[in-house]
Amino acid sequence: MTDPLTTDQLHRPQPVAALEAGGTKFRAAIIDADLGIVDQMRVPTTTPDATLGAVTDFFAGHSTISALGIASFGPLVVDRSSVAYGSIAPTPKPGWAGTPLLDHLRNTLGVSAEIQTDVEAAAVAEHRIGAGRGHDSITYVTVGTGIGAGVLVDGEPFRGRDHTELGHIPVRRVENDEFEGICPFHGDCLEGMASGPAIQARWGTTPSSLGGRDDVWNLEADYLAQLALVLTYAFSPDKILFSGGVGARKHLAPRIAAATARHLGGYSVSRAPDSDLVATAALGNDAGLIGAALLAQSLLSSELSTPQEVIR
Ligand code: ZN
Repeated sequence: MTDPLTTDQLHRPQPVAALEAGGTKFRAAIIDADLGIVDQMRVPTTTPDATLGAVTDFFAGHSTISALGIASFGPLVVDRSSVAYGSIAPTPKPGWAGTPLLDHLRNTLGVSAEIQTDVEAAAVAEHRIGAGRGHDSITYVTVGTGIGAGVLVDGEPFRGRDHTELGHIPVRRVENDEFEGICPFHGDCLEGMASGPAIQARWGTTPSSLGGRDDVWNLEADYLAQLALVLTYAFSPDKILFSGGVGARKHLAPRIAAATARHLGGYSVSRAPDSDLVATAALGNDAGLIGAALLAQSLLSSELSTPQEVIR
């Protein structure tokens, strides 16, 4: 015989469903109110049918979920006035362009759901419980197979008509660097010059096998610092957090910080950036998933505070 639920248990937030939809794999999880992972699964990103089928099967096996948060790869339609809101925008990734990620999962699972880009969600997670805690305005940069940045202004993701695409900013070529760049759209944009695949193409080996070589990582830091410069002058964040397979490398953040100071050239608006402006993110590979869970939790709390819910 089970004990009757206490008042505290009755008011305890329910577990939520969180999905990190990545370009190479999807990670789905049930996450409790304390952001602990109760259950999770991973599935490779193949076709929308196969990948989303595995995800919905997993969630359908958990009857207790009440809301779903999605942190998705992009480009993603984030214009709320568009009928395609929450869909994957035109992308070279075969089969995924136009996939209505949000609507499909919301309708199939029959729960309230919301979506952010993977870097927006990760930025929110770092802001709430990670290395951005205690700061109002932070930016989160992931450097791995691609380069992406999420910008939070007063704790909310900054968006215009579309989400930002800061990985594709033009960069000033470092002297004597003749690498042509690998971005299919721009060639030598930041992502074309400094992503993981760019490092591999430039040096002929994987980033992880390049050890602590000064020539490799000072060059990398110079390009990433050009993004830090843009972020500083465009959004004036308190923190610029680096993450991802390349971005979270040990000893890279101090190199980026030094190069950023050099690029700023002593020019700042009212006060010099803090010496710890550039830092490594704290949540590692879990940031996107935790951000998705926080998004789902925010749906639940807004439902609780909606007057119609009270009348029902
Ligand atoms: Zn580009």
